[in-house]
Amino acid sequence: MFRHFSAGYVEEVLGRGAAVVFQNGGRELGKEAGQMLYKPSTDEYLKEVVQFVRDSRIGILIPRQLDDKLLVVDLDECITCAGMASISKRICHFEVGFVAGITEVLIKKKPKAYETKCGANGEGTCQVTVELG
Ligand SMILES: [Zn+2]
Repeated sequence: MFRHFSAGYVEEVLGRGAAVVFQNGGRELGKEAGQMLYKPSTDEYLKEVVQFVRDSRIGILIPRQLDDKLLVVDLDECITCAGMASISKRICHFEVGFVAGITEVLIKKKPKAYETKCGANGEGTCQVTVELG
């Protein structure tokens, strides 16, 4: 049900503000999960996060890049848009917020995050890019 009653629909009904609401909700959850899963080793922390994301059925998180500047993760089977026909928009604001929240625990400041690929935009997977620097 959540899958079909999510960002795209709500955004259409409520306007742009809904995107912010979803992103903030995701960020709060990401921070809470991050504090719960925290490990001093970044690799181990990311492994815990991947497991958490799978267990809570948010999707299948695949870290693609991590360096001083950027964290890039793919999200397959994304809870928001998996199975959705392409609507030519990137809509996974909740997931962007979640990854930002997870990252905030890691770097101890609020990062900039955005969706760089989205299944709903016909790109085959969702991808979130976080600026660390
Ligand atoms: Zn998406």
